[in-house]
Amino acid sequence: MQNLAALKEKLNLPKRIVITTHVKPDADALGSSLGLAGYLMKLGHQVCVITPTDYPDFLTWMEGNEDVLIFEGNEEKAQYLVENADLVFCLDFSSLTRIGALGEMVRDSEAEKVLIDHHLNPETFAQYVLWSTEAAATAELIFDLIEMLGDVEKITKAMAEALYAGLMTDTGNFKLPSTTPHVHNIVATLMELGADISKVSHNVYDNSSLDRMRLLGFALSERLEVIEGTPVAFFYLTTEDKKRFNYQTGDSEGLVNYGLGIKDVKVSAIFIEDEGKVKISFRSFGNIPINELSRKYFNGGGHKNAAGGVSFDDLETTINKFKELVQGQTKELNYEA
Ligand code: 5GP
Ligand code: MN
Repeated sequence: MQNLAALKEKLNLPKRIVITTHVKPDADALGSSLGLAGYLMKLGHQVCVITPTDYPDFLTWMEGNEDVLIFEGNEEKAQYLVENADLVFCLDFSSLTRIGALGEMVRDSEAEKVLIDHHLNPETFAQYVLWSTEAAATAELIFDLIEMLGDVEKITKAMAEALYAGLMTDTGNFKLPSTTPHVHNIVATLMELGADISKVSHNVYDNSSLDRMRLLGFALSERLEVIEGTPVAFFYLTTEDKKRFNYQTGDSEGLVNYGLGIKDVKVSAIFIEDEGKVKISFRSFGNIPINELSRKYFNGGGHKNAAGGVSFDDLETTINKFKELVQGQTKELNYEA
């Protein structure tokens, strides 16, 4: 880490600390934030986790969830906390534009910033940086930081479970190529520290509403296509579809991965209509850098095999653009790779 000694020194005296993460936090974003918050509170700091938006119900079991401040609807309080913070930790995103209006507040704050992330192309706004695209999850980097600070034994069962949730989900249940021996070593330590991994898995994955299950069935049977002559599958969900299944934040999480389960499919996408825009997720196998396509054509980015973006065209236009790109086999979609 850049300036680890200086950060350690800073943490020697009680500080006012804000931890923030990206919009629609996932298990890694929230687990990293709450795991780190638990640690920093143990060191005697005053800590507040601020998320730009709400997050799915299947993450609310994490310790500290009740004290998370959701920026949307609490802008003034968030502004006060960010303005008066000594340190702002930015977790699981690399650019302040990814956290909306909260990003401007963080940029303007006189607090020193700490960036901890595993995405590509980090923006240079932080004085302290722990950044590695080799890391499977931000939770891995939080563990590494605590270890570098010599404090692994301070990790409680609750913190271990929050960090485990980040590792479990960002590695696709320890299946993605990002799953290194180091990841498994961390998991072993988290288990020794008391993490109940079955409980975490149960909380995250066995927590769907019946509506969400029905939406999954509907999407698989009615909203999934394979683009002819290509190894590309996609889903879409209209506003009507979402209404029909009483759509809640997080209900489409993981859906895109089912496309990759089809024999010979190497790229999967999902297009979700969302109040004047279309939110897109992409997944790919192997050497297909789907983040490049997302960055170039869909205002997005992300990791090589898991990326996302947004389109301001209507759903049909967006899907047609994607189909054309796929059928034209842009060099970002090197199917032979
Ligand atoms: P998901 O498909 O799970 O929402 O996102 C997968 C990954 O894509 C995220 O970890 C994030 O790196 C990236 N991502 C998702 N949406 C966006 C976006 O709108 N802009 C950028 N730059 N990256 C995104
Ligand atoms: Mn992550």
